[in-house]
Amino acid sequence: MTHSQPAARDRVAIVGGGLAGSLLALALAQRGVGVDVYERRPDPRDGRAEGGRSINLGLSKRGIQALTEVGLIDEVMPLTVTMSGRVIHAPDGSTRFQPYGKDGGEVLHSIDRNELNRLLLDHAQRHPQVRLHFEHRLNRIDKATRELEFEHGGARVIARPAWVVGADGAFSRTRPQMQRGERADYHQEYLEWGYKELSLSPKPDGGSRIELEALHVWPRVHGFFVSHPNRDGSHTLTLFLPHQGPDSFDSTRTPEQIRALFDKYFPDLIPLLPNLVEDWASHPTGSLITTRTAPWSADDWIVLVGDACHAVYPFYGQGMNSAFEDCSALMAALHAHPRDRRAAFIAYEAARRPHTDTLAELSKANFVELKQKVQSFWFLARKRIDVT
Ligand code: FAD
Repeated sequence: MTHSQPAARDRVAIVGGGLAGSLLALALAQRGVGVDVYERRPDPRDGRAEGGRSINLGLSKRGIQALTEVGLIDEVMPLTVTMSGRVIHAPDGSTRFQPYGKDGGEVLHSIDRNELNRLLLDHAQRHPQVRLHFEHRLNRIDKATRELEFEHGGARVIARPAWVVGADGAFSRTRPQMQRGERADYHQEYLEWGYKELSLSPKPDGGSRIELEALHVWPRVHGFFVSHPNRDGSHTLTLFLPHQGPDSFDSTRTPEQIRALFDKYFPDLIPLLPNLVEDWASHPTGSLITTRTAPWSADDWIVLVGDACHAVYPFYGQGMNSAFEDCSALMAALHAHPRDRRAAFIAYEAARRPHTDTLAELSKANFVELKQKVQSFWFLARKRIDVT
């Protein structure tokens, strides 16, 4: 159900009903705050949502903590597949397992992003303090009158909330509107590489064609695959490749070019991907950006969370976990400054920005790791084994 009544002065408006927006709506509602969530897309639960992107995410400790705080972890964990390490696939088709953590005692959890988002929206919607407004795209923010303007079905909707959270992702509209006229920093970097998802289906009996409980990596200097397992035995593969140049997304379009790319770099994947050409054509190519910005808030009225204030390359697998951690930190700061929201916003940014800046660097460094170092580690390790 979508509500049409816009946010009133005693309610908080969250722009973006993605992962951070839906989690934060629930967290605020549980503290007795009325929340209106405005999401530009249709309700992802009614089957009309944009298709094509079904990214699987690695859920780890920080994300688990935030989900625990809103009481959802027991419902989320059965939706995940535990990954106890990563399997490295060498160019000659041989594999090597590297357990997570020094003693192999650490794990990550693979989860379907859309399934998690739907679960969060379900819980937010069930809470009497939350109203969800789908197909509401933020157009403009007027800081002087403290109004938000949304576009909904060709009409303008004006909301006058008590305060606003920008949870509208890497290409946030809230951020530039909030920082207009302010002494603000914004830095954005596009990676020359993009990504495409492909799917590795299970065996007819439902079993997995490759080790289920692991992250799989096919590291190649020119392009690489990472795959996350699904509960039905399938795996969601993400190919990272340059956008342009030889053997790039731009130069790989025809069935012959697609097969040639796999023959050259990923021959062991060919028998596992019988629908490769169709799958390739039906999945869009995505772009990857890193953003850094400051400040994350304006006065006591607007604050940013998640990718809206710190989008990172996905190579460290912590974007969502970090967005969830923002929600926990913002709730803690609001709790610590019950009568001074501006102070809460400043404390929240001070607590989080050093960590998200570091995460941006780690994510860039792991790009090199996934391309090269994992591969050289494998070769070195094999050499040692061969010699002894
Ligand atoms: P989003 O999830 O992007 O949500 C933003 C929402 O705002 C969207 O629903 C959007 O429709 C809405 N919106 C945008 N503009 C407007 C507007 N003008 N008006 C209203 N609504 C609007 N993270 C991990 O932790 N682990 C991983 O393994 C991992 N793997 C990844 C792999 C890939 C290939 C990619 C691209 C990302 C990966 N991430 C991973 C990162 C993770 O997906 C993001 O960090 C996370 O989705 C951020 O959540 P968010 O709520 O801030 O933004």
